Amino acid sequence: MNVEQNQTGGFRSCFRRVTPYVPGEQPKEQNIIKLNTNENPYPPSPAVAKALREMEPDKFRLYPDPACGILTKALADYHGVGADQVFVGVGSDDVLAMAFMTFFNSDRPIFFPDITYSFYPVWAGLFRIPYEQKALDENFRLRSEDYAQENGGVIFPNPNAPTGLLEPLSFIEDILDHNRDVIVVIDEAYIDFGGQSALALLDRYENLLVVRTYSKSRSMAGVRIGYAVGSCELIRAMQDVKYSFNSYTMSQAALELGTAALADEAYFRTVTDRIIATRSRAVKRLTEQGFCCLDSCANFIFAAHPGYDGEKLFAYLRQNGIYVRHFSGPRIGRYLRITMGLDEEMERLYETLERAYGSL
Ligand SMILES: *Cc1c(COP(=O)(O)O)cnc(C)c1O
Repeated sequence: MNVEQNQTGGFRSCFRRVTPYVPGEQPKEQNIIKLNTNENPYPPSPAVAKALREMEPDKFRLYPDPACGILTKALADYHGVGADQVFVGVGSDDVLAMAFMTFFNSDRPIFFPDITYSFYPVWAGLFRIPYEQKALDENFRLRSEDYAQENGGVIFPNPNAPTGLLEPLSFIEDILDHNRDVIVVIDEAYIDFGGQSALALLDRYENLLVVRTYSKSRSMAGVRIGYAVGSCELIRAMQDVKYSFNSYTMSQAALELGTAALADEAYFRTVTDRIIATRSRAVKRLTEQGFCCLDSCANFIFAAHPGYDGEKLFAYLRQNGIYVRHFSGPRIGRYLRITMGLDEEMERLYETLERAYGSL
């Protein structure tokens, strides 16, 4: 058999060929400072620890509730919507993938920004959805007119990632007004760090789907909980797709822990406020060191130093046990995406950067 055949011929010609998403590194070493995947540096609510201690292992014998009743109901009450308006999934990645499968079935391309969550083009490729990426303007902002042309759906994060820039609700409304015939998905992974949620628009736009996650603001990336809120028609359509794919997506443990977390609003506020305060200080400190920081509304800062190459700074920090994220690309290669850590971790970052300037 020749090499060519070995790689693509025969049964291999039937494979689904995809270019997978590349997640941030999860290093195994101890004592590193991990500011690379936008996890929360604070533990989940004590209410989650309590629910974990009180969990009944015997419940694990049975399949979990396929409708995820307790968590769906708790989320519906939390947001003041009907339980038929909430869809829960295994992290928002699962929810977003379901939304792509359910709503993006047009021959027309879906639209999303050129600089955004890099999973969007991966799902579009996986599900064979045509797409067009709309270039952010020179200040890394979305241009609403780009999303006014005919399309098969629109999706973007607000705040956007990896820029951290927030668009106001008036902008989202403008997008919705120009896209009455398709579904508009707003990915609110970072909305709890200071943004105004598009949930406020749900009553007026039945084509709006808002997607949220426990991974960032609720410190539960490891439990994998995400959800979507939308009109009951949209949610029913997503449920039909889910039940055609895997009825039992959420573990019993995730359902219980996710429900417990919602009961502790005070803790949630304390943690998100702390991260917002860390972010203000970080912008100040990084700016003093010469960085240009985009105006972040998320739990990370996207910053570039005019005197130093992004990739070199990234490598220097990594060698010194501090992991941040670097994306290559003509417009963003100069930047580092720095997740807000504990205040002492941030101090280590500033000190290490000072040393980098002396040695790069
Ligand atoms: C982190 C992130 C997600 C995925 O989060 P999950 O852990 O799967 O809930 C989705 N969208 C954006 C923009 C993100 O940054």
